[in-house]
Amino acid sequence: MRDSAAGCGICGLIERIRTGSFADFVAELDLHYVILGEAQFYRGYCTLLFKEHATELHCLAPKTVRAAFDEVVAVARAIATVVNPLRLNYENLGNQEPHLHWHVFPRFAEDPMRLAPVWMRPESERKVILEDRERRRLIDSLRAELARRLS
Ligand SMILES: [Zn+2]
Repeated sequence: MRDSAAGCGICGLIERIRTGSFADFVAELDLHYVILGEAQFYRGYCTLLFKEHATELHCLAPKTVRAAFDEVVAVARAIATVVNPLRLNYENLGNQEPHLHWHVFPRFAEDPMRLAPVWMRPESERKVILEDRERRRLIDSLRAELARRLS
């Protein structure tokens, strides 16, 4: 397991987070960075980026896997508290970016496609960019909720 890999998009993103040049940064946890995802059609959607360049969950030490799951659930609880969704969807895919990361999507009752996976919605509809003040408020709320849960 290397700290970063040349050509990895997520390692590149993590470098931007570490240098403070990523606007949608939410929080740094022990194993992950948390960012607000682009697909804010699902208001509150966050992604957890594993800090090291690891590609498969099953290749991590069992203790690390359990700690990683604890962080995913902590983020899920923060999202649930802040946006009060009908339910949450969790995804760990890695098909396009083979660097461990988790998508945590809140799903809402008023979504006419709520029975389908989020990826069925066209990208042009998923990728809602929040107005800057709203985005800031959402990030601040998620960060505060996470800090409260992890302190
Ligand atoms: Zn990577």
